[in-house]
Parts: sequence; C-alpha cells; structure tokens
Amino acid sequence: MKVKVVSRILQANDRLADENRRLFKEKGVYVINLMSAPGAGKTTLIVETIKALKDRVSIGVVEGDIVGTDDAERIDSLGIPVVQINTHGACHLDANMVREVLDELPLQDIRLLIVENVGNLVCPAEFNIGEDMKVMLLSVSEGDDKPGKYPLMFQESSALLINKIDLLPYLDIDIERIKSTARALNPEIEIIELSCKTGQGMDRWVTFLEEKLQI
Ligand code: MG
Ligand code: ZN
Repeated sequence: MKVKVVSRILQANDRLADENRRLFKEKGVYVINLMSAPGAGKTTLIVETIKALKDRVSIGVVEGDIVGTDDAERIDSLGIPVVQINTHGACHLDANMVREVLDELPLQDIRLLIVENVGNLVCPAEFNIGEDMKVMLLSVSEGDDKPGKYPLMFQESSALLINKIDLLPYLDIDIERIKSTARALNPEIEIIELSCKTGQGMDRWVTFLEEKLQI
C-alpha cells in the first residue's frame, strides 16, 4: 500500500513538472535543478556561474531552503532576480512549490534559471520540477563512497560536478572511485572536477553550459 501512495504522489508531481516544462519552453527558459548534500557549495557555484556568464546570459535563481534567506540574499546582492522558497521542513523541492513562485520572476527576460534544491542526497532526485537537466554537486570532503550509497542522484543527473578539489591534498579519498562508480551508474554523465574557491575547472563548467544554452 505504502508503495502505491508514493508512486501516486510522484505521478501527480510529474504532471505538474510537465506543466512547468511547457511554460519554461514557451518563455525560452533553460532550467537547471541543482542538487547536493548540505555544504557542498551550491550557492557558491551559483554565484561564480553568475559572475562568469551574466554579461552574456540573463540569469534568474530560485533558492530552496527549509528556512532562512541567507542564500537568496547572496544572489540578490549580485543584482540577479531571485526568489526564495522555504519548505518549512520538507527536504526537497517539488514541481508545485516551484510553480507557486514563478510569477515572482521575470521569466520572459530570463534565459537561464538555476534552481538550488534543498541540501539532501535522497529525495530531490525523485521530484522533477520541469527542469532541462539535473546537476549534482559533490564535495570531495563528503568522501568517495557517495555514488554507491545514493545512486539515484547520480543516475538522474546529466552532470556531476566534483567540487573543492583544492582540498584533495588534505583528504584521504580516491577521486577516481567517485568517477568510476558514477559512470557505472550513469554512462552518459558529464563529470567536471572544479574548485569554486580557486576557480580551477570552472572554465569547463562554463563551456558545458554555453553548449547547452547555445551561446
Ligand atoms: Mg545554499
Ligand atoms: Zn524530501
């Protein structure tokens, strides 16, 4: 019984996600659903992506957090349209939550919309929001066992960004294990190693986005 209820919830969510997707297509908005554990660096990645692309692409951001507006304030200070969703306990964003805030964004003027999901390695991967692609951010400080422990995140993502590679000399982790496990789960996944702090690898991420956006 429980399984049936969950699948019905996911089916209802998928229908709303399709509606969002139609709206995004109509307005010409490319949407990224950015997922990671807490503290992997999603907001910093968004800030650095904005700095790299904002002169060429109009960007908007949706910030998902259980409570608080700290991350949205960081984006707002860059002069980028941003709307905060507070889930009040829910550990992921769903299509309905995203739909409810879309009126607050100038969608017709936005080409790239980055949705920062709630920090969590489990259910964000189950709930489509109408995105063009899911991107998974993994910090090397989380260890090299995460693809094997949270496979759905890696299976659902078009790209895996391995962040904080500047910390590798101080950590006892095998980055090749992360990459090989992720590729075994999802042979199509684009894997980019980077550091939002030093900027290393950011050019590859920006090039990947430029190709997606055809700019
Ligand atoms: Mg954040
Ligand atoms: Zn959840």
